[in-house]
Amino acid sequence: MRGVEVVEQAAKSVINPVKGMPFAWSINPYRGCYHQCVFCYARRTHWFLDEDGIDRWGSRIFVKVNAPAVVRREVARRSWKREYVAIGTVTDPYQPLEGRYRLTRGILEALADFETPAGLITRSPLVVRDLDVLARLARVAGASVSVSIATTDAALARQIEPTVAPPAQRLRTVETLASSGIRVSVALAPILPGITDSAENIASVVRAARGAGAAHVWHSTLYLHDVTREAYFAYLRERHPELVESYERAYRGKYAPSRVTRPIDQRFDAAIRAYPKVARDFIAPNGPRQISLL
Ligand code: SF4
Repeated sequence: MRGVEVVEQAAKSVINPVKGMPFAWSINPYRGCYHQCVFCYARRTHWFLDEDGIDRWGSRIFVKVNAPAVVRREVARRSWKREYVAIGTVTDPYQPLEGRYRLTRGILEALADFETPAGLITRSPLVVRDLDVLARLARVAGASVSVSIATTDAALARQIEPTVAPPAQRLRTVETLASSGIRVSVALAPILPGITDSAENIASVVRAARGAGAAHVWHSTLYLHDVTREAYFAYLRERHPELVESYERAYRGKYAPSRVTRPIDQRFDAAIRAYPKVARDFIAPNGPRQISLL
């Protein structure tokens, strides 16, 4: 990880309330992400710290070194209702620094000890390191993992997610999690118009995800907001100059218009119909608690 400046911080609180999402709480053990995906919508969180969300997003990473201890304190409160927590909403909780800091692991342990259900989203195979604690959490409260795979084309993945493990390795991660009883989904996200939105690419990811044992496959089309827009257009100008004009027309706001998203949704629905879910057994939480997938 040459060229990465690591800033260790002591956080006052780690479980954050969330509005307008299907979950009420989130945890992000890091700020910034080594993976530097060109489409990353979370880049704007660097702006909140007056940091550059383009070049510094992947090279100045903030680490909440006391996160496991703070989470343990937060979930131990009598007022904590043990509601579902989403981990990794604006960072990858298994980016390379997690190998050294083990914050996500410590957080999962605290959640399991206090029977708090959780789901996490990642692009990293490092998540399998924590299969033991994920299985324990799945048993006591509920746990799920969402692995993001935008394409099965390794060369294209390298272009848009420069430091993420190749798609085949992520699919093996899905397989390992599913065969260990962890409820795992694949996020075909984001779908990039003109780049990863072909029927072939969408079907290829859905087929591979189903083959690996994903219980659920979901998708979303690219969302372009302030700093992400800048980073993404820089990528387009360099790698796909022929698409710049059509993107400028389509992305006058943050979201692509329905003339762009509707055909993508239709291709996705067709792929889901073509490759239906294969029934598998997953670890069910003891007792009545249920969790929803991230
Ligand atoms: S892995 Fe996730 S958080 Fe990290 S840069 Fe990529 S999209 Fe952003």
